[in-house]
Amino acid sequence: MLELLPPPPTDPLWDLTAEFAADERPERLNLVLGVYRDHTGRTPVMTAVREAEVRLAEQAGSKEYRGLSGNTVFNRAMQSMVLGPQTPADRAVTVQTVAGSGALRLLADLIGRTRPGTTVWISDPAYVNHRPILEAAGLEVRTFGWRDAEGAFDAEGVLRELGAARRDDVVLLQGCCHNPTGADPTLDAWEALAELAVREGWVPFVDLAYHGLGDGLEADLLPTRILAARVPEMLIAVSCSKNFGLYSDRTGCAMVLGTSARALGHAETALQNAARTLYSMPPEHGAAVVAAILGDEGLRAAWRAELETMRGRITANRAELATHLSALGHGAQARALDRQKGMFSMLPLSAGQMLELRRRHAVYGTTSGRINIAGIAGHRIPRLAQAVAAVLDA
Ligand code: PLP
Repeated sequence: MLELLPPPPTDPLWDLTAEFAADERPERLNLVLGVYRDHTGRTPVMTAVREAEVRLAEQAGSKEYRGLSGNTVFNRAMQSMVLGPQTPADRAVTVQTVAGSGALRLLADLIGRTRPGTTVWISDPAYVNHRPILEAAGLEVRTFGWRDAEGAFDAEGVLRELGAARRDDVVLLQGCCHNPTGADPTLDAWEALAELAVREGWVPFVDLAYHGLGDGLEADLLPTRILAARVPEMLIAVSCSKNFGLYSDRTGCAMVLGTSARALGHAETALQNAARTLYSMPPEHGAAVVAAILGDEGLRAAWRAELETMRGRITANRAELATHLSALGHGAQARALDRQKGMFSMLPLSAGQMLELRRRHAVYGTTSGRINIAGIAGHRIPRLAQAVAAVLDA
């Protein structure tokens, strides 16, 4: 049977990671994957997570099956965090998923079960997994441009291109810290997007993977809440990978907002049925940790404080890179960089220049120019700026 399998495409990000692992140059710098690293280069377990894990271990709870919707305490806490505690319980349903990717896939499945072949609009460029996840659920994918010539969010262009989205199409928007560009809409632009969705009848599908790492937790959730307050129906995929540092615990949830208890009940069952055919039940550990943190005032405050520290480091890294680039004669590029938000930044380099950066300077980013700004130890930023400037000047 396996002889019939054609050579499958490999994952470009994991290919780069393997290339990095084989690179023996001591100055090599891996900025490919979206993982936060502290000033020592480690990806730490957050203090609140560690404390919650200790408490859970002491309670020695049971590992019996939890059900297709996962940990319901976690689901309620996440819904309250994302939509705000005042959101009526009958406005949304939330189901625990295998991280943000699992939420994207379950919600894509829900769209496909509701109306097979629905058109879903994604930004160009988009998170690398958006298209394959949507296509795997049998959906049609169309794209709209995201940035202007200076690399900033292009409000006019986006609203114009999304003018072609039809009633019942779905538009996938990243709620904050756009991956890969770091270019986010202003609040006015979010209001305009909400108005367009209401007028044209398309359904927003929000992907939240970096809330807390852009302008702060509440500020990063505001665009999602603006949309939620205006549109009748909406889908939200939430990841706890980055902002709780629970990458390998695969923690997240899928939310559906609707206007009737009956429709929401059907949506929850459809999500459960999708989960049943994909993996049955989500893993408990990360969800139990998040539920313990969000349900305890002290742990919650400690988590928020540490998240703020991470955000501060990311912002400082980006500002420092911009300062060095500017000092090296690339002021316009530095200003564009400094406007970006979240874990990623786009360097003003072509695919060929990114290859040069890798070959000559051992700096690994994606061919699109994306680098993980949260992955650099501070003392290495001047050398990174010099490498980027050298490639730009070549
Ligand atoms: N959405 C976006 C925009 C992402 O960048 C990521 C991960 O990098 C995800 C979703 C999925 O994250 P995870 O499945 O690790 O929670």
